[in-house]
Amino acid sequence: MAIESKTNNHHVGWIEIICGGMFSGKSKELINRIKTAEAAQQKVAIFKPAVDTRYHADKIVSHDAAALDAKPINDAKMMLEGTEDLHIIAIDEVQFFSQDIIQVVEQLANAGKRVIVAGLDMDYEGKPFGPMPSLLSVANYITKLHALCVLCGAEASYSYRKITSKDQVVLGEKDKYEARCRNCFNS
Ligand code: ZN
Repeated sequence: MAIESKTNNHHVGWIEIICGGMFSGKSKELINRIKTAEAAQQKVAIFKPAVDTRYHADKIVSHDAAALDAKPINDAKMMLEGTEDLHIIAIDEVQFFSQDIIQVVEQLANAGKRVIVAGLDMDYEGKPFGPMPSLLSVANYITKLHALCVLCGAEASYSYRKITSKDQVVLGEKDKYEARCRNCFNS
């Protein structure tokens, strides 16, 4: 992806976001970027919210089953510990963190780190999800991925919930959600 910075300036940090709906390939893209960096001897720390236990408590996993070890944490501030030797901080499912995450990623970028975060930009109602709106504002680079609508095949940015629940956080996969385009989501 040419739109992400490829500079090797260790003094300047930045924030990059991979966002989109469910099944749009966010975790896969995050894993790809981490593997590319690790191949270049970059030191990477990988975090995920402790709430996300769909596949493994201590891994990030894409829908096509690529996986990397990740540290599950509840408090975003834990990411600030022991970062001296790290080049990159990667965070998956970032929408589940509290608003504290915004200051944490800025602090890491200010300290010269490359911060890569992936997460849902909208919840099942199509509303901005948790800290994502603010993260998108402070990010240097944004990649928005799309799935294809399961009903009509158009580009899909919505995560339609197939079960009845009004909770914003209901963990699930294709048993509970499907990718939908704007028209099919609203119909
Ligand atoms: Zn559709």
